Amino acid sequence: MNPCPCGYYPDRLKCTCTPLQIKKYLGKLSYPLLDRIDIITQVHTVEYGSIINIKNRYGESSAQIRKRVESVLHIQEKRFKGENIYRNADMSAKQVKKYCKVDSATKEYLAQMYEKMSMSARGYHKILKVARTIADIECKEIIEQKHIEEAVMYRCTDRLSFFSGGLKDDN
Ligand SMILES: [Zn+2]
Repeated sequence: MNPCPCGYYPDRLKCTCTPLQIKKYLGKLSYPLLDRIDIITQVHTVEYGSIINIKNRYGESSAQIRKRVESVLHIQEKRFKGENIYRNADMSAKQVKKYCKVDSATKEYLAQMYEKMSMSARGYHKILKVARTIADIECKEIIEQKHIEEAVMYRCTDRLSFFSGGLKDDN
């Protein structure tokens, strides 16, 4: 997204926009549009010092991250051998059921989240697909609650609707 009129949202300490301006600003994104996006996260201003020391700050080089991404892609290629897809994101509802196994406690947690966030079926499947990838990064076959929790965090569309005072009504 482009910045808000003053440029500082979501930093509410610095942002001088009125609630109405923020509502209008966030209202540019409709709920049906947000619902189609897999991962949504807020990024904060990067201090100059951490740009020049980026490797020290995160402890990983781009080459190391690349290696990790490639190994996760390899897991997915193996998983979908013989299917007509290559990536977790491409799974159909039927494939989600087949490949996104969760334990019973996690199943219950998912059901709660489904209610709490008043998720769409699409949103529910997106969370499972993203959680599948997070579990793949840890080389886990069964998706655990912490993987779902992280995936839920990346779909903060309900938080955005909270800030805007009801994006869902703007359909
Ligand atoms: Zn602002």
